[in-house]
Amino acid sequence: MATAPALRLPDVETMGAEDVLRWAHEQFGDRMCLTCSWQRQSSVLIHMVSELGLDVPIVELDTLVLFPETYETRGRLVDRYGLKLQSFRPIDAPDKLWETEPDRCCHIRKVEPLERALAPYDAWITGIRREQALTRANAQKIEWSERYGVWKVQPIVDWDVKRVEAYIHVNEIPYNPLHDRGYPSIGCIPCTRAVAAGDDERSGRWAGSNKLECGIHINAPLIKESND
Ligand code: SF4
Repeated sequence: MATAPALRLPDVETMGAEDVLRWAHEQFGDRMCLTCSWQRQSSVLIHMVSELGLDVPIVELDTLVLFPETYETRGRLVDRYGLKLQSFRPIDAPDKLWETEPDRCCHIRKVEPLERALAPYDAWITGIRREQALTRANAQKIEWSERYGVWKVQPIVDWDVKRVEAYIHVNEIPYNPLHDRGYPSIGCIPCTRAVAAGDDERSGRWAGSNKLECGIHINAPLIKESND
């Protein structure tokens, strides 16, 4: 666990997404990255960073079991915005571990690669939003992550899904087509399914189990981490 370095925070809660990004870029410069899951939040933030002219490294966690549509969306965004993508993949992920130990599977395919990805950085831009889940209801626009030892920058944490959709529509940004086929939230193929209109946004993730998060956005690890 890392304690927060001194940082004079403005009243970020009153700042719009673009101002949060500008402020964070002034603070952290090239020591800040943006992680992309190629869901619609990624489309919004990639466009916003590009419009602001901020040079922010783009990082993806490729679990190797993402939907073809997700990889295709990645390709369209990379081409349109000229992204130089840093891709982090799992080391020795056992096949079908999601069936027996989903928390360990998420650790191997997402958490450990994220730890590697964040190692050179002091700040991490994410696209999470408060309305996505109770586990995210208290997320802040800027908050310290003891677990990863970075500042989390969450410019659209107060946006609802309609605002995200409108931003994408108005700006004609490429987005993951699965969102139009009943997938409000998109993760790995084995653990994501379509939901009925009006269902909870993340109800198609790990459906039928108590699992709500892959573990990258919560402070306590879901499994005991080895010190090896
Ligand atoms: S979402 Fe499923 S397949 Fe993907 S890393 Fe987690 S348990 Fe494994």
